[in-house]
Amino acid sequence: MKYFGAHVSAAGGLENAPRNAHAIGATGFALFTKNQRQWIGKPLAAAEIAAFRRACDELGYAPAQILPHDSYLINLGHPDSEGLEKSRAAFVEEMARCQQLGLDRLNFHPGSHLQKIAEEECLDRIAASIDLALERTQGVTAVIENTAGQGSNLGYRFEHLARIIERVSDKSRVGICIDTCHTFAAGYDLRTAEACDATFDELDRIVGLEYLRGIHLNDAMKPLGSRVDRHAPLGEGQIGWECFRYIARDARFDGIPLILETPDESRWADEIARLRAFAGERV
Ligand SMILES: [Zn+2]
Ligand SMILES: [Zn+2]
Repeated sequence: MKYFGAHVSAAGGLENAPRNAHAIGATGFALFTKNQRQWIGKPLAAAEIAAFRRACDELGYAPAQILPHDSYLINLGHPDSEGLEKSRAAFVEEMARCQQLGLDRLNFHPGSHLQKIAEEECLDRIAASIDLALERTQGVTAVIENTAGQGSNLGYRFEHLARIIERVSDKSRVGICIDTCHTFAAGYDLRTAEACDATFDELDRIVGLEYLRGIHLNDAMKPLGSRVDRHAPLGEGQIGWECFRYIARDARFDGIPLILETPDESRWADEIARLRAFAGERV
């Protein structure tokens, strides 16, 4: 079973996220559990947690269909101790929020060296940050997203993800999320079924597909290897529909959230319907 969805709004209450997902025919969704531009959110109230869980139950969203995303401010590989401490505290808090909400994974961007430390040193800091968060929470997997490699962001090579995982103590609670736009921008081709075979084989060889806990489905505005992170609607970028058809039909991507972060929200229902049709579902 494929879980197709989008990164939906939780404005007005977290329980609105599953409702917004249901309204566009999604069988999965992503959300921020707090304002993504703030360091620390206000603590979740018992009523808010209950309302979210009730809406997920009613609309049929289990934890494996939900991919929460952390704040963009967090940099778990921060070169300065002050920035690193602040990021680690905020990340632990985000993991704890997921735990409280009954969610089993948290998607985040690995971090950036800000031209101040070597890539390896930054990757090792990220792994240590993950260890810390795993020690302080239970039942939530830290899901590292690959990046386009814009600026000093790490995670643009599959080897970066592998190195972080290698250094995390509890491998049962670390995973990866592959963003198709980021993958393509980082230089891995996805334009044909053969290119997808080669890219996912490489991912399997370097990291291992058993770590896959989600996929972000985005077309890319910029060309292969541009290192620029600009999402496009499916089929309207440089990647094209073939990649999304490939993912929808491949059983290796069953049972995890497959999430749109495409720019035009008004088209999400159509994009999801098309993906579900590719997967052979009757929509
Ligand atoms: Zn993404
Ligand atoms: Zn992106």
